[in-house]
Amino acid sequence: MGYTIISGDITTQHADAIVNAANTSLLGGGGVDGAIHRAAGPELLRECRTLHGCRTGEAKITKGYRLPARYVIHTPGPVWRGGNAGEDELLASSYWSSLRLAAENGAKTVAFPSISTGVYRFPLERAARIATETVCGFLREHPDMSVTMVCFDERTKAAYEKALAEYGSPP
Ligand code: ADP
Repeated sequence: MGYTIISGDITTQHADAIVNAANTSLLGGGGVDGAIHRAAGPELLRECRTLHGCRTGEAKITKGYRLPARYVIHTPGPVWRGGNAGEDELLASSYWSSLRLAAENGAKTVAFPSISTGVYRFPLERAARIATETVCGFLREHPDMSVTMVCFDERTKAAYEKALAEYGSPP
């Protein structure tokens, strides 16, 4: 239980739910979104088509199909537009909405990628701080759940470890 930071590929995680840094169409894209769709198989896109998109900062859930994870929670994080377009609140909302949806569906173990810090260009250290505060805040209210942050490269892992060290002790 608690909050763990690892390096790895989110598509191989044996969590109850993995989170997808999706776009608002929910119809697939590049980066982690493309990797999740490739690993889950075409049934994932078929279910996503029935969802009619998702607003930035909100989240929708599907089955995991060929993934080891039971569910995929799709959340479009904010595109970085300089910091005055509500990006911080929208990023926090992506994490919080994803965790709330996981809890509502009985998913106790949840794996996240670093939302918005790829193609959406959210500054990494700032995103890591927001993710850490939001996830740890949620876990304090849900001590039966646990979260793994799955970092795809060492720079990302270092940023999340620094953010956790600055935040204090994990839940
Ligand atoms: P966004 O559009 O939200 O910025 P990206 O997919 O471009 O999303 O990038 C988000 C993060 O996901 C980046 O740190 C990227 O390196 C990482 N990433 C890409 N593929 C994977 C994967 N298979 N598992 C985990 N993280 C991944």
